[in-house]
Amino acid sequence: MEKIIDEKTQGNTLTLEAREGNSRKLYIESYGCAMNFSDSEIVASILADQGFNTTNSLEEADLVLVNTCSIRDKAEQTVRKRLEKYNAVKRINPKMKVGVLGCMAERLKEKFLEEEKIVDLVVGPDAYKDIPNLLKEVEEGRDAVNVILSKEETYGDISPVRLGGNGITAFVSITRGCDNMCTFCVVPFTRGRERSRDPQSILREVNDLAEKGYKEITLLGQNVDSYLWYGGGLKKDFKNASEMQKATATDFAVLLDMVATAHPKMRIRFSTSNPQDMHEEVLHIVAKHDNICNHIHLPVQSGSTRILKKMNRQHTREEYMKLIDRIWEIIPGCSISQDMIIGFPTETEEDHKETMSLMEYVKYDFGYMYKYSERPGTMAARKLEDDVPEEIKSRRLTEIVDLQQKHSAIRTAEFLGKIVTVLIEKESKKNKDEWSGRTEHNNVAVFPKENYKAGDFVKVKVTDCTTATLIGKAVGFSGNN
Ligand code: SAM
Repeated sequence: MEKIIDEKTQGNTLTLEAREGNSRKLYIESYGCAMNFSDSEIVASILADQGFNTTNSLEEADLVLVNTCSIRDKAEQTVRKRLEKYNAVKRINPKMKVGVLGCMAERLKEKFLEEEKIVDLVVGPDAYKDIPNLLKEVEEGRDAVNVILSKEETYGDISPVRLGGNGITAFVSITRGCDNMCTFCVVPFTRGRERSRDPQSILREVNDLAEKGYKEITLLGQNVDSYLWYGGGLKKDFKNASEMQKATATDFAVLLDMVATAHPKMRIRFSTSNPQDMHEEVLHIVAKHDNICNHIHLPVQSGSTRILKKMNRQHTREEYMKLIDRIWEIIPGCSISQDMIIGFPTETEEDHKETMSLMEYVKYDFGYMYKYSERPGTMAARKLEDDVPEEIKSRRLTEIVDLQQKHSAIRTAEFLGKIVTVLIEKESKKNKDEWSGRTEHNNVAVFPKENYKAGDFVKVKVTDCTTATLIGKAVGFSGNN
């Protein structure tokens, strides 16, 4: 097992309500991070204006798009297999066009388009508004490609349709790209430099979601704590901004405060936080608002200062531990989750033990754990040999996953006997007489349906639990409804 919590949505086909008058059919499949799923909603919005309704039947599609991820080699291989499948269907339906979107676009454009001829269209993460033009090229029999990365594009002016969602929870993207240059990571190359979205357009999107009855939003970015709006442009150019721009700039703490104040009944989450950019002010804002969830996803990647330095993570093990202490001082009981990379180049048994001891210190609520996967073009690929043997990576991963499972069980059991607030998201998969939802600490909770309905905030008394799920009984509505 690579991950303790599987993103069950990987590869989901996303569909939305048909728009009247639209006659063409779009099949869109998404892989990778939440940003990719959010981007697919932007693409579907752009294509709805071009006469496309979504479908979940590959065979009847006029256009098949796959939104790709290249964070690890495995993710790339999965997408390649899907492209083979689409091409098999294309042999039966030659009118069907196939396009690749997202993070694999830049790296594999020549290969897919020219060498292997398995796609008609390649579009990078900043070029989605060009899709209508690119489709015309394709219709005229030419291959179409746009993988140009932008300094400005945030899609702030596009009101995304919500694909395959539950009408209750939604992602709202606030930044694009990343400037952190972690040596293992391909994101700065595939998604470009970091830029933030106009706070007013973020608020407009949240207002719109609230009007449509949504109850929870997650503010999204590769590194949300680094959010900075000063009138547009790249984060790295902020130093050249005017005095006025600097004085009126909006950072993440201000944005979070603004959204939480404007929508006191909307539950708010955010992801991902990066330890080097997380400021205490954000923690005070989380503590100040009841509607901001007490959960922070705070990837550390390794517990060894030596490895963190090689990863260019800009903080030591001790600084990370101090940050954890501050989180708990300011937000008592805040749940914390991690991302961890196992077997980064030069990782020794000693480094691995430091990762385990850091995990013992934090006892994360949950986590995502991955074997290091060398990514072409990254600093680590250029400068460091991928020298931890596969069997050692596997053994260390198992140890880390087992430890995380132990900690998840401890953290989940802490809620036994307590009353938690659950936002009902859907029917429980295991029992159609039960609801499933999440607590503000991000635990999944299940309980008998009674007369409650999806979208209700319900107080639930926890009577039992598994390692990752709370089991209980509703004791009434929460004041949040
Ligand atoms: N921006 C966040 C951060 O680094 O703090 C996370 C972004 S990344 C899309 C999600 C996770 O993928 C990372 O936290 C890391 O654990 C994992 N990851 C990134 N590059 C990787 C690589 N080359 N090999 C294995 N895992 C990787």
